[in-house]
Amino acid sequence: MSLLDLIFPKTCLSCGKEGKYICENCLGKARILKPACPYCEKPSIDGFTHTKCGKKYGLDGLTSFWKYEGVLKKAIWALKFKYATQVGGELASILVRELVTGSHPVNGTLVPIPIYWQRENVRGFNQSEEIGKLIAKEMGWKFIPDLLIKNKSTKSQVELTVEGRKQNLRGVFCIDPYHKSAILNLKSVILFDDVFTTGSTLKEAAKVLKRAGVEKVWGMTIAR
Ligand SMILES: [Zn+2]
Ligand SMILES: [Zn+2]
Repeated sequence: MSLLDLIFPKTCLSCGKEGKYICENCLGKARILKPACPYCEKPSIDGFTHTKCGKKYGLDGLTSFWKYEGVLKKAIWALKFKYATQVGGELASILVRELVTGSHPVNGTLVPIPIYWQRENVRGFNQSEEIGKLIAKEMGWKFIPDLLIKNKSTKSQVELTVEGRKQNLRGVFCIDPYHKSAILNLKSVILFDDVFTTGSTLKEAAKVLKRAGVEKVWGMTIAR
């Protein structure tokens, strides 16, 4: 326990119980999602994209752990504004616990969805990168935080239609030129983001990776 914990004791973001930001009781109430296809969002074995939904440059599957609600929603929100490092650490360890105890076909090099460096995060903190780094370390996966670059700012996706979201993201990601040759040896990439809403962000990033020669791209998010 650090001095900071004594001055500002950690309390659960949902029920206020002291000890952790995500208490076991509230986490237990969060609904674990059944594996679903990232395109039609209907059930699929282990989250694989259905053959009929598959796209040439698309996601091969998706692992989203919890429904975006309750304490997890609060934790993901908190990441963007405050306590980022500590909440991120707690999220990473519960994700690792799920990965180790569940049967998830996730393996490869973890690549976080990038943020635009200048504007898109109040704290200049990429939560997907920070959490992704911890998960990759625990799971023994390779981690390339800057494989993808987000090269322009985008409007908030929240108020856009599905088609609007696609338009908004078109051409927004590219491969860091520094990694142009390394990417040829990447067989399998796990694209990591905090929340899957329509999946436009993961799908656009998958397209860029596959066009650059990556064979398999799997999406992984904390919540959906
Ligand atoms: Zn709680
Ligand atoms: Zn499908």
